Amino acid sequence: MAQTKQGCGCAVAVLVVVMGALGVVGVKFALPWWKQKPPPPSGKELQVHVLNVGQGDSILIIVPEGKTVLIDAGDETKGKVVVDALKRYNVQQIDLFIATHAHPDHIGGAPEVFKAVKVATVWHNDSPPPEYESDTGAANNNANAAGKSNAGGKGNAQNKRAQDQKATPKPAPKKGGKNILLPTVKTYTDLRSAVETSGAEWKAVGAGERYDLGGGALLNVLAPTQPFFTREQIRSGGGNEPNANSIVVRLDYGDFSMLLPGDAEAQTEDRMESKEANLAAKILKVAHHGSKYATSENFLRRVKPEAAIISDGDFNHYGHPSPLVLERLKAAGVTKLYRTDMQGEITITTTGKLKDGKLYDIKAAKETKGDLWAGREPQKDDSTRSGFISYGEFGPPPRQKKK
Ligand SMILES: [Zn+2]
Repeated sequence: MAQTKQGCGCAVAVLVVVMGALGVVGVKFALPWWKQKPPPPSGKELQVHVLNVGQGDSILIIVPEGKTVLIDAGDETKGKVVVDALKRYNVQQIDLFIATHAHPDHIGGAPEVFKAVKVATVWHNDSPPPEYESDTGAANNNANAAGKSNAGGKGNAQNKRAQDQKATPKPAPKKGGKNILLPTVKTYTDLRSAVETSGAEWKAVGAGERYDLGGGALLNVLAPTQPFFTREQIRSGGGNEPNANSIVVRLDYGDFSMLLPGDAEAQTEDRMESKEANLAAKILKVAHHGSKYATSENFLRRVKPEAAIISDGDFNHYGHPSPLVLERLKAAGVTKLYRTDMQGEITITTTGKLKDGKLYDIKAAKETKGDLWAGREPQKDDSTRSGFISYGEFGPPPRQKKK
C-alpha cells in the first residue's frame, strides 16, 4: 500500500514537472510565435502612397476601416503637397505620424500637416539633431533625458513625463546677439512646437514596438536599437548618425509586406541582421533616397524585394539614386523599380491576398520616357569615406528649376 501511495506521489510529481515544462516551452516559443503572427487580412484594399515630395520622404498608409499612418512629411516646402494628398484621399485624422529621424527633408513639412488635420500619436526615434542640445541650451531638457533611457518601446510613464516638459527650448544667444538656429535644429524645434500645440502623444519608440492598424494590418519597428550609433562610429564608415538611427518599420498585411527604412545606413542594416529581424518584404522603399551608403548586398539578400521604390528629387546634389545602388537592386532580382523624381507619386494597393494572380498593384502618377535604372553622380567627390555629403552641406535642397 505504502509503495502504491509512493508511486502515485511520484506520478503526480512527474506530471507536474512535465506540465510545468510544457508551460515554459509554450510561453517561450508558442506565445511569441502567436504574438508575432499577423491577423488575417480583412480582404479590403490597403493603400500605400509614396508621395512626391522631391528630395525627401512622405509615405501615407491607409487601411480601410482601420488606421491611417503618415511616415515623414517631406521638407518645409512640401507640407502643402502632403496636405493636398490628405485631402485627395479624404483623410480626416492621422492616427500615427512617424518621424523616422530629425532631418528637415523628413520632418520639415510636419507642422503644416499638424495644422491641417488631427494627429493622435507621434513616434520619434528619440535622437534629436546632434546640434540641438548645444544650440538650444537644451542639455538639461528632460524631454530628451527621459526618452533616452527608453527608446525600445518601454517606459510610458517616462514618456508621459517627457511629454509634459516644455518642448520648445530657448535658443542660445549667438555672437552678434542674434539667435540663429541651424536648419536641422530649427525644423526639430518647429516639430516639437507643432506636436505640443496639437496635443498629440509624443512617444519614443525602438525595435520591438508594434502598431495594430486594424483590418489585419500591422507595423513592426525593426530599428533603432540601443545604444544609438554615434558620430564616430558612423562618419568613419561613410554615413551619418541621425540617418543610421532612423526608425525602420515593416508593414504586414496578409501575404503582402513592405519595408520602410527611412534614411537607414548600411550599419543599421547590419545591426538589424545581427538581431535577426525579419527583413523579408515584397516591396522595399529604398533607404536614404538611394544613397550608396545604404541598401547593401547582404541586406538585399535578406529582404529579397520584388519591387523597389525610391523617393528622391530632381537636381539633388547628393547623387541620389546612386548608380551603385541601382546595380545592387538589379543584381538582387528587383524587376520593378519606381522613382518619385521621374514618375511622381507612387501608389501601391493590395488586399493582402492573391487577386487575379496578383498580390499587389503599383501605379505611378505619370509615365516617364527616361531610364529608371540610370542613377546620378554627386556634385562633390564623395569617393572617399571622408567625402560623405551630409544633409544641408549645400544649404537647402534646390527648388524648382526656373524655366
Ligand atoms: Zn532624407
